[in-house]
Amino acid sequence: MKILKGDKVKVIIGKDKGREGEVIKSFPKKSTLVVKGLNIFKKHIKPSQNQPGKIVEKERPLYISKLILICPECKKPTRVGYKIDKSGAKYRICKKCQSIINSSKSTSVSTSKK
Ligand SMILES: [Zn+2]
Repeated sequence: MKILKGDKVKVIIGKDKGREGEVIKSFPKKSTLVVKGLNIFKKHIKPSQNQPGKIVEKERPLYISKLILICPECKKPTRVGYKIDKSGAKYRICKKCQSIINSSKSTSVSTSKK
């Protein structure tokens, strides 16, 4: 997936076109992403014996093809490229400014304190 959790994205197709948000969930197998505050649908929960009825607002996943990444460096919507360094590590890069786009802060760097 070229767009990952934590990325800022812009919608390019559909009713939310032009809107921006942060990716809060990704479903690589379905190629969909949930973007905070976008593609909201209201779910009506019927009252039951235990609780009163209510309306829950929930984000629905958007297809990755409807979204474009916003580069954290140049703040522009951009296509994502890849770069592989000598050690074989793969980075995402912004095709506009060539800067490395950090994936979500899940760094597996082992920091050993002395
Ligand atoms: Zn950029």
